[in-house]
Amino acid sequence: MKLIDKYNRTHNYLRLSVSDKCNLHCLYCNPVSSELNLSKDSLTNQEIIRLTRLFIKQFEFSKIRLTGGEPFARKNIIELFEGLSVQKNEYQFELAVTTNGTLLNGKLKKLKELGLDRFNFSLDSLKHQIYSQITGKNELSKVLQTIDEAESEGFQNTKINTVIIRRVNDDEISDFIEYSIRTSRNIRFIEYMPFSNNGYDKDGFISSKELINTISQSYKLLPFESNSMNVAKDYCIIDTKAKISFISPISDHFCELCNRLRITSDGKLKLCLFSPHKTEIDLLKLIRDGYTDEQIADSISKALLEKDYAHPEIEELIQLKNNNIISLGG
Ligand code: SAM
Repeated sequence: MKLIDKYNRTHNYLRLSVSDKCNLHCLYCNPVSSELNLSKDSLTNQEIIRLTRLFIKQFEFSKIRLTGGEPFARKNIIELFEGLSVQKNEYQFELAVTTNGTLLNGKLKKLKELGLDRFNFSLDSLKHQIYSQITGKNELSKVLQTIDEAESEGFQNTKINTVIIRRVNDDEISDFIEYSIRTSRNIRFIEYMPFSNNGYDKDGFISSKELINTISQSYKLLPFESNSMNVAKDYCIIDTKAKISFISPISDHFCELCNRLRITSDGKLKLCLFSPHKTEIDLLKLIRDGYTDEQIADSISKALLEKDYAHPEIEELIQLKNNNIISLGG
């Protein structure tokens, strides 16, 4: 049975936060000053595996992304991939992960063997000092090396998530373009979003449109249609293999295309990144109270009916409480 909401959107993409802890303190996500309410109880590997199977089998989900916090900060993450690997032998779905790339040492080969399909790496600066200033750690060399190694290990279609913030890293836009030209890797510029505890600086926001204008002064950007469900607007740069994408949740939201559901690391179902209290089902509780898969599926179907058409505008988003991307799973 497909999971369709009242706006006729089929949901088939699950983003699962497998840890609400992170070893980095990115200033726009998990700043040192943030007072996160870290969850006391988290889904076990068996519970995560049961939930992914339920979404794939009962609701025909075709894509699962592990995120966080930092997925590789989870202690038993390789065992989790082992469990998901068994499911990959049984069902067809894409398994992807979003990571800061700092904790993958010695794990890439194993992850490839276990059927991980794709990586999105977060990388906001190509300068050591700025990278350290943004993340709180001097890990740039390690991340760049890990991205190269992932490709050597056979991981394809790697994407690089980059948040450009005015007066922080906006002098690096062309460095990222050159990086994409050099490596053919897809740079995805994500608009800077407000979350509670991220000390949002409205003046730091740069819209995709402004980025496109800036880039177009030096490069010939050409839009191309990749996949109609793609939330990113994709461009190539003429006469190069670069691929540059723009994700505009603030200036040009793509809610009409929304096909995603999220599960937090403590097992709450989230209908939207920006609806912290909207019909939050506690899947962890349902599992531990002995609900069957059918009963859990029924609760999920009912909850989906409450999903709004779109998230609020930025002024309202800035006011939202209890909306940490790190717990929600970015
Ligand atoms: N730790 C992993 C990582 O660094 O990729 C996964 C979690 S992180 C929350 C997932 C993505 O969310 C990252 O690509 C990050 O850039 C993005 N993100 C976090 N806070 C954001 C914000 N305020 N605005 C835009 N993107 C944000």
